[in-house]
Amino acid sequence: MKTGIISDIHSNFEALTAVLSALEREKVERIVCLGDLVGYGPDPNACVETVLNSAAFSVAGNHDHGVAGLTPIEPFNLHARTAVEWTRTQIEPRWMSALSSLPLVAVDDAFMAVHATPNFPAKWHYLFSEDEIADNLEAMTVPVCFVGHSHAPVAFELNSEHDILMRPADEIRFQPGRKYLINVGSVGQPRDGDPRAAYGVLSDGVFTLKREVYDIAAVQARMRQAGLPAPLIERLSTGQ
Ligand code: ZN
Repeated sequence: MKTGIISDIHSNFEALTAVLSALEREKVERIVCLGDLVGYGPDPNACVETVLNSAAFSVAGNHDHGVAGLTPIEPFNLHARTAVEWTRTQIEPRWMSALSSLPLVAVDDAFMAVHATPNFPAKWHYLFSEDEIADNLEAMTVPVCFVGHSHAPVAFELNSEHDILMRPADEIRFQPGRKYLINVGSVGQPRDGDPRAAYGVLSDGVFTLKREVYDIAAVQARMRQAGLPAPLIERLSTGQ
């Protein structure tokens, strides 16, 4: 089934709608979301409603759980915390309870979906060290796992000799007997130096990373209006 994979929308409705239009043009049969529907951006309600109406399923991200009070926000940096607190003042109760009900992990016949890491999904770890990447690849019960969280697209591949290959997530054709841990990047706040919204398409055993331009200035104007922190507004221009 041709599948669109989105992650880390972060209340950026302009980016979300641009990506959903692109996925419609791609004729995907379903969309799945890897979490962080909210946080950072100006439109939490519209984003939660749209993701829940468009996606076959979504897992929870640390910002979703942070807003819902299910994970402590003390480890968040100052601007992220400010945005979580602002989001709590804006979000409608029905969307707050929807965020609280998102699962941490979803396993499909084709892949596993989790926001941070497959082995400890509630700890919100980042895949920084080689050991952590190896542990997660070994722990995967299905050959393919899609993650978000770092906002930087990348793919890790484990071959039958237990070697790990790190490579760009641009286009990956899945080979039998191998495992793949793929970060699909962020729709609403890319951090890989490319400010365009990132998302993935999975079709016939091939994953492709896509980018889509959207009206960044319009989101920045809405963020200014909302009084959200300036560094969060500025970083959208550079994708950092
Ligand atoms: Zn995020």
